[in-house]
Amino acid sequence: MKLQRPKLHVMEFIFAKPSETSKIKGYVAVNINGQYFGKVNKEGEFYGNPNIEKYSQVISNINNDLLHHVKETAKKTGHCCFCNLELTSEDSVLNGYGETCAKHYNLPYETSESMNSEFNIGDYVKYVGKSKKIESGMVKVVKINKTTCTVLDVNGEIASVSQKMLIIV
Ligand SMILES: [Zn+2]
Repeated sequence: MKLQRPKLHVMEFIFAKPSETSKIKGYVAVNINGQYFGKVNKEGEFYGNPNIEKYSQVISNINNDLLHHVKETAKKTGHCCFCNLELTSEDSVLNGYGETCAKHYNLPYETSESMNSEFNIGDYVKYVGKSKKIESGMVKVVKINKTTCTVLDVNGEIASVSQKMLIIV
């Protein structure tokens, strides 16, 4: 199953893409505490309830660090930011969404094993090992496993290497 119209529950807001047949013609509809407020068009302009003004700062804050707010919301509500179902594992709460929704939206799903690692996905670290596949030097962490990391080197080569061979510089 592919979800066509993502809905995002963050704090007291629901941001949703209306269906093709919906009377709401817009890019994103905004619900606040369950009440429809208005829509945002493709140019980012808001049409709707003028009381949106008092929420504009908080919406802007959410927009600036969406993932952080998604995770904070999940910690408070215990629900998935997409499907709003109860999150059944600690890992899901830490991600802000369940594993199923992560797959639907092609999002990373970190497990507590990887979260305990001193590395984060996207970090640039120094690879000090010897590998036929990749060059030693600065690499980018693209996946974190139990004891290894999948990394990308300057030549765009990908390899799985021991975390012991990676150092933060
Ligand atoms: Zn979900």
